[in-house]
Amino acid sequence: MNSYAWIILIFVLLDYALGAAAGVLNLKNIRDELPEEFADVWDKDRYAKSQQYLAATTRLGLVSSTVLLAVLLVFWFAGGFNFVDALARGLGFGPTLTGLAYFAFLAALSNMISTGFSLYSTFVIEERFGFNKTTLKTFILDRIKIAALACILGGPIIGGILYFLGHAGPNAWLYCWAGVTVFILFIQMVAPTWIMPLFNKFLPLENQELKQAVLDYTDSVDFPLENLFMMDGSKRSSKSNAFFAGFGKRRRIALFDTLIEKHTIPELVAVVAHEVGHYKKKHILTNMVISILHLGLMFYLLSLFISRQGLFDAFFMEQASVYAGLLFFGLLYAPVETILGLGLGMLSRKNEYEADLFSVTTTGDPQAMIDALKKLSRDNLSNLWPHPFYVFLAYSHPPVLERIRAIQQIEIH
Ligand SMILES: [Zn+2]
Repeated sequence: MNSYAWIILIFVLLDYALGAAAGVLNLKNIRDELPEEFADVWDKDRYAKSQQYLAATTRLGLVSSTVLLAVLLVFWFAGGFNFVDALARGLGFGPTLTGLAYFAFLAALSNMISTGFSLYSTFVIEERFGFNKTTLKTFILDRIKIAALACILGGPIIGGILYFLGHAGPNAWLYCWAGVTVFILFIQMVAPTWIMPLFNKFLPLENQELKQAVLDYTDSVDFPLENLFMMDGSKRSSKSNAFFAGFGKRRRIALFDTLIEKHTIPELVAVVAHEVGHYKKKHILTNMVISILHLGLMFYLLSLFISRQGLFDAFFMEQASVYAGLLFFGLLYAPVETILGLGLGMLSRKNEYEADLFSVTTTGDPQAMIDALKKLSRDNLSNLWPHPFYVFLAYSHPPVLERIRAIQQIEIH
């Protein structure tokens, strides 16, 4: 084993160990008593159920990450990467198409495993806790649509990257960076109108009183909103949510039907105000800029490492290629990505506090936001006592109790 192999192996094992340790710490952090803040919305049964749900999802996470680790290690050290390469080359295409075939084979393999866990998660665990609304038909159609989108959108962009890396010389990374940036901006722009409707229905709000309350609010904060929708989240799950998507004139806010059903109008306005806060505080723009800069760094480092013979030796490859170099660089780069991810997680949690603050100060109604958060946590069986290490590794939002306590500190003028 050479030094590339050792770096990748050690990180893969470390990543697994940290994830497993965080999951176990999280389970041990459960407390018997329901936090007093939640007593008016939660009850004992619901609280017990949330702990059973946490135990079930943590167990599944441990099993799936163990299986994935074992499969990766066996595949790697049995020479699987080289074996699939021989299959792809056997098709007799040119280098770019051979690369796409290589990725397609590997994606199909990893999809088979992840689909198994996804089936179990949806139809056993989510079903047992009363969340699942997905029919087998929806589940299968979703998989087909995602695979088709991966071919239609992913194929050309990955093909383009492989082509540039193979033909454009030392500046290839710059072309790749520019190309992928344009692609991402394009997807962000068309996702709300072209992609999301493939999976869900977006209907205008029927409840006129709610619609008026939301529009009054968005006018009051100078956030003209032409697109306010109800999304049929209940097609897949009884869990509820809301989100903001797109930019410019195409921006839209979607409220899940499951959210509308269980919340009062002031609570829903508070949720919309939180989403508007993300926009007004430029969180969406900042995240976009960070991810584009990150892409530049990644492509630059890729250009330094992609043709190192040691990377191909680490995976027992008989022939070097641009596509395999791209894949192995991805594995070598994973630690950098993880560290950046931890930083982005911290930023995201800070932004959630800011969006809550924006919501509370612009609506002047902290209680509505607090009630909405309590109901959301109850209806989604959130873990009320996540371990700080788990939060640090995996949470994009602060724990709900901390959000509520932060809101209670806000002074309204
Ligand atoms: Zn948020």
